[in-house]
Amino acid sequence: MDQSELTGGYIFDIQGFSVHDGPGCRTLIFLKGCPLRCIWCSNPEGIKPFPEPLYKESKCLFDLFCIEACPYQAITVHGGKGDQKLEFDRKKCSECRTYDCVKACLTGALAKGGNYMTLDELYARIVHDRQYWGDQGGITLTGGEPFAQPEFTGALLQKCFKAFIHTAVETCGNIPWKDIQPSLQWLEWIFYDLKHMDDALHKQLTGVSNKLVLENARLIAAGFEGRLVFRLPLVPGMNDSEENIKATAGFILSTGKNELNILPVHHLGREKYLLAGYTYRLPGFEMIPREKLIEVQNLFTQLGVKCYLGSETPF
Ligand code: SF4
Ligand code: SF4
Repeated sequence: MDQSELTGGYIFDIQGFSVHDGPGCRTLIFLKGCPLRCIWCSNPEGIKPFPEPLYKESKCLFDLFCIEACPYQAITVHGGKGDQKLEFDRKKCSECRTYDCVKACLTGALAKGGNYMTLDELYARIVHDRQYWGDQGGITLTGGEPFAQPEFTGALLQKCFKAFIHTAVETCGNIPWKDIQPSLQWLEWIFYDLKHMDDALHKQLTGVSNKLVLENARLIAAGFEGRLVFRLPLVPGMNDSEENIKATAGFILSTGKNELNILPVHHLGREKYLLAGYTYRLPGFEMIPREKLIEVQNLFTQLGVKCYLGSETPF
């Protein structure tokens, strides 16, 4: 058996025809697992490292086939007729490898969030998309956090790079350097998230310190030969202060780079929180107005940073 057939990883989505995550038309590959818990995360089903059951109550008939099928007694039913609710013991589900509940559900109320794919299976899927990319396209690995599965990510990037497929990654940066560095030689673009320059506020927003994030950003900027574009998910009232914008611009310029893509945080992931059994943490949040975005963009520009808003990028 070829070594690449033995290498595999956990993927929770593949999307073709993306035009916002690197040059040209691209295939986005979403990898499972993330060390951060950003309060605005729009892909909560990507946080855990393994697949998990996603439950859509509106499709549920409460026939309880899933309860009978689950080998771990992880599902309980509450309430009376007309007012029933299923509850999942997510700790047990996170250790489950059978997903028998999903197989037993006939209505589609349960789905498996994520799948294991071998490198060869994923590569075949990528090659299938190649005909749609045009001259400039390729793949962008995102998630979750691609470097949370370092061997698989490295092997995938290497295989694509050697086949002249343009490679990009979007990373949160909070990963040991030994798990990032080996993949850099197979990458052409990196999108690198900066969420807050103040360490205490970074912890509050993401659950982790920004020290490793900033340290890795400096290392990548110093040694990476491809294009490094920083990204700032902008959340009104949380990281859009003048102080944070000035500190972010100062940091970017100190690395010798000068490109930033601002991503206004949106509500699109809200529904997925319910499916995956998480609590949505931005219930009263309003999208950042366009005028405020322009204001932030102008400030970055004055400070010497090339700042692109959302999908309004030159790539
Ligand atoms: S994912 Fe596994 S443990 Fe969880 S309910 Fe389904 S069968 Fe049970
Ligand atoms: S098997 Fe599906 S439809 Fe039936 S109770 Fe379970 S989730 Fe609901």
